[in-house]
Amino acid sequence: MLLFVTYKLTQLTNERSLAEFTDVFVDLTGELTVDDIQSVQSKSWLKVPSTMSFGITEHPHWLKTDIPNNQSGKPQIIEFSYSLTDKVDIWFVTKRNGTPIVLDQHSVGDSLAYSQRPVDHDRWLFSVPEASEDITMIARIQSTGPLKGEVNIWSKESYIAYVSAHRLFMGIFFGYMFAMALSNLFLYVSTRIPTFLVYSGYVLMFSVVIASLQGISFRFLWPESTWLQERAVALFAYVMLGLVVLFSRQILDLDQQQPKLSKVLSILQKIYFVLAVMCLALPYSVMIKVLLVMMLLSIPILLYVSIMMAFQGSQIARFFAAAWGVLLLSGIMTSADSFQWLNFPIDASYVLMVGATIETLLLALALAMSFDNQREKANQAQRQVLESEKEAAKAKDELLKMQQEAKEQLEYAVDERTLELEIALRELSEVNNELEALSAIDALTGLMNRRAFEKRILAESRRSRRERTPLAVAMLDIDHFKKVNDTYGHQAGDECLRIFAKLMREIIKRPSDVLCRYGGEEFVVILPNTTLDAAKTLMEQLRIKVSETTIEFESQEILITTSAGVTARVVSTDTDHELMVSYADKQLYNAKDGGRNRVVAANF
Ligand code: GH3
Ligand code: MG
Ligand code: MG
Repeated sequence: MLLFVTYKLTQLTNERSLAEFTDVFVDLTGELTVDDIQSVQSKSWLKVPSTMSFGITEHPHWLKTDIPNNQSGKPQIIEFSYSLTDKVDIWFVTKRNGTPIVLDQHSVGDSLAYSQRPVDHDRWLFSVPEASEDITMIARIQSTGPLKGEVNIWSKESYIAYVSAHRLFMGIFFGYMFAMALSNLFLYVSTRIPTFLVYSGYVLMFSVVIASLQGISFRFLWPESTWLQERAVALFAYVMLGLVVLFSRQILDLDQQQPKLSKVLSILQKIYFVLAVMCLALPYSVMIKVLLVMMLLSIPILLYVSIMMAFQGSQIARFFAAAWGVLLLSGIMTSADSFQWLNFPIDASYVLMVGATIETLLLALALAMSFDNQREKANQAQRQVLESEKEAAKAKDELLKMQQEAKEQLEYAVDERTLELEIALRELSEVNNELEALSAIDALTGLMNRRAFEKRILAESRRSRRERTPLAVAMLDIDHFKKVNDTYGHQAGDECLRIFAKLMREIIKRPSDVLCRYGGEEFVVILPNTTLDAAKTLMEQLRIKVSETTIEFESQEILITTSAGVTARVVSTDTDHELMVSYADKQLYNAKDGGRNRVVAANF
């Protein structure tokens, strides 16, 4: 779009430079008037250089231009194209009848308020007065900055056509720059990444510098402030360059990548900002010289850094280097044009502006890439965090699972051991019971022993007392058992005791009856709920059975007899059972005394 308009502008540029018609005279005193100048001899005037550029000088320069004859008869316009000159005084003079006459007079310049311009335009325009005679234009130019006297002449019509295209160009350029500045400002607001803000500031400053060079900012932004107009270019250029250096450091990540160079640039950046402040006080002529020196110093550094990093493989640096390359190229082209090494068909500043748009675009691309890189880095970091969090959670889960498993295993083991222990305890108690039972039984005969008897007699006597039933007790003793032992041996004696017990079990069969070996060859029988008569009958049956039984031991036949003492009663006191036992024993002795092999019964 911009290139198309630029192309259009080349077709519409019909101005004609007045350099070939112009002579210059340097006023070393600085005090000459227009009348004095007109009387200066023509040999004192010099031809102007085709660039119409006089460098930086304090001396007022006088220009004398013979305006060529206006053959078309159409109105003409003189354009003074370098609008940063401090002061320009213009006289249009002619000679009538040999006497010089001033047809028109104007004063313009940076040092005068905008409102004093003859034509309301950001360039200095003057209408050429209509006259039948030849017209000479005398101009006195003076400036603290570079002194240029570029003067062009246009036909009014072609100038209007040119200006409309020029306006479109400017509109596109500033619209583009403003959009870039604004969009990056918004990006800064949303992302808080300072590089966007720096970039936005840089683009804005660049725009203001170009607007100042074009005379646009004086016309629209500060028409009354000649003070600002005088130093605007230097001031904003310094701020812009400071931002450029800051931007370069940020976008190329120089603090990390090239710490030494970053330090150098950091110093440069500070110098620019200090110089910007100094612009407010020091004269423009000084500051503009310093600006040129500083630019000559910093542009190679920036180019060197970006090209070096581009070769090291940084994609961002490539765009960055390309951006500066484009700007430098357009800058060189502009300079070449102004020194007339090259001759552009259009105003060289357009070339610079096209260069600026391309540069701005490339920088914005570099910025977008750097943002993308940063975002990718942030995403990567976030992904890593997520990954490690996931792993941590997994490890935690595994740990919990292991703990759970360990707990379950432990519980299982404890249960198992508890069960084993319970079984062991149960077995132990069974063994204990058996032991206890065993301890109640006499090993030889299998009957209860004396200890068991003591317990049972107590229990049965309590029952008798409670239930009021008769309790019978019988004491038995094998007759002459010593003799059996002596005759047949101790083994035979034991066999006799076993057979005797067997016979007892055969005769005394009630489950409630208690048969005990009282000691040696003595036995005792507890017969609950049994009267004395019944007990005596039972003992008699036993006595007969024993006496009729032949005991065989090792092919010997042994015969034994037994005596018994029986007593019975319903127990009424706690000591009755003891007394009953001794009373039964007493009856046994009575039976022995009575001749043995008999039963003696007596109520207690
Ligand atoms: P009496 O008719 O007066 O009862 O005469 P006795 O010989 O049976 O009485 P004594 O009390 O003098 O003798 C008891 C004998 O019984 C003494 C002992 O050798 C024997 N004896 C005691 N216990 C056992 C035993 O467990 N096995 C054997 N083989 N003999 C026993
Ligand atoms: Mg005895
Ligand atoms: Mg005996």
